[in-house]
Amino acid sequence: MQVTSHGAAGFVTGSCHLVETESSRFIIDCGMYQGSKAMNRLNYEPFDFAPQDIDFVIITHGHIDHCGLLPKLVRRGFRGPIYTSPATADLLPIMLADSAYIQEKDTEHENRRRLRKGQEPRAPLYTMNDVDKTTEMIQIIDYNHSMTINEVTIRLRDAGHVIGSSIVELFVENGDGTETKTVFSGDLGQWDVPIIKDPTYIWNSDYVFIESTYGDRVHDTTRPRKETLFEHIKNTYQKGGKLLIPCFALERTQELLYTLSELKNEEPDFPPVDIFLDSPLAIKITEVFKKHPETYDEEARARTDKPFDFPGLVCTTSVEESRRVNKMDGPAIIIAGSGMCTAGRIRHHLKHGIWDPKNTLLFVGYQAPGTLGRIILDGAEEIKMMGLDLVVKADIVRIGSFSAHADRDELINWLMAFKEKPKTVFLIHGEQATLETFSANLNNSGFNTSIPVKGIPVFT
Ligand SMILES: [Zn+2]
Ligand SMILES: [Zn+2]
Repeated sequence: MQVTSHGAAGFVTGSCHLVETESSRFIIDCGMYQGSKAMNRLNYEPFDFAPQDIDFVIITHGHIDHCGLLPKLVRRGFRGPIYTSPATADLLPIMLADSAYIQEKDTEHENRRRLRKGQEPRAPLYTMNDVDKTTEMIQIIDYNHSMTINEVTIRLRDAGHVIGSSIVELFVENGDGTETKTVFSGDLGQWDVPIIKDPTYIWNSDYVFIESTYGDRVHDTTRPRKETLFEHIKNTYQKGGKLLIPCFALERTQELLYTLSELKNEEPDFPPVDIFLDSPLAIKITEVFKKHPETYDEEARARTDKPFDFPGLVCTTSVEESRRVNKMDGPAIIIAGSGMCTAGRIRHHLKHGIWDPKNTLLFVGYQAPGTLGRIILDGAEEIKMMGLDLVVKADIVRIGSFSAHADRDELINWLMAFKEKPKTVFLIHGEQATLETFSANLNNSGFNTSIPVKGIPVFT
């Protein structure tokens, strides 16, 4: 079997691994490149393989860096099935429609710029029409069920990263009666987080491709996030202000709602404030969570109340409703996208509130360098946004322990569960420096490792 990583090789985003066996050719993930301008430009390059020659696609989960180029694949001629877990199958149309909307808006903006320079306009990466075609090609594989296509058998296991996330087990018949097993970890979650189950331990495999996002770091879990969250809620309420929480729409928002509803149940002095979920995307994704209780861990299943539908929660879908929340005086708790304040409704809330010391801005996710969120978190006293100069007077706080990824120790623990060490552990989905540090660490624990290079095949 031959595996060629066309993305998430030497860097994190753009996950796409081409697998070629005797009679099958398929890809695991078809993700968008994200981050710098140079990375973004890669999305517009042709695929390094012919989309019409791909037999099928397996999608590990709904994050855009794992599924965001599916509609481009379809636009360029792919016609096979797209296999994924039931919850991911429900997420894909929502995530891809949102992405298509962003693509179309970006292209409009880019083409105005090109027109002014006398340049040719650019076609969008894909449109809603491509998303509709893609949606029709999705087929479900349940967790822990095997499916065989030619000499390849596929099984998905819960990766505990976001709802519906999968580890992919591949069993390939070699023709001489032997079988080679290869495992793709997908993105692996943290253990003991709210709602979803822990990542599944795999007991054996000849080869493993493992994500390495935090291969060189350990999460700081010294301060329980629930307590810290409650402190910020009480402090902001005492000031009479709004608690603004920029938030990723998939998983983090639902974790927050879950934790907020828990606090409301458990804490008699939880202040009487409304909680606004001001993100149409997050509202739609929350519906997918409600539809898939089979993905919950025991604790979440044991809850008799409705963690995503509790008194005091107000979901604001329309722009008018959102504007009313903008203009409203505190106290209130407002959850809005985007998670790094680069777009979305949170920017309107910042415009109406970041200059007011009554308010608190609470970060619960990673803030990439260069993003507005990072600039504010790094202590900017003034920011420029939407053509305005705004002074930062709100309290700026963060909770660091929220993360959807396993850290170094969790990744190593997961690998240690293999009864026999795999022949090779391939390290993907990490920055180059992280991959090298992680690789050295694994070598010390007796693992044979390899770091695939984008576009260069490896053989298993
Ligand atoms: Zn992910
Ligand atoms: Zn990822």
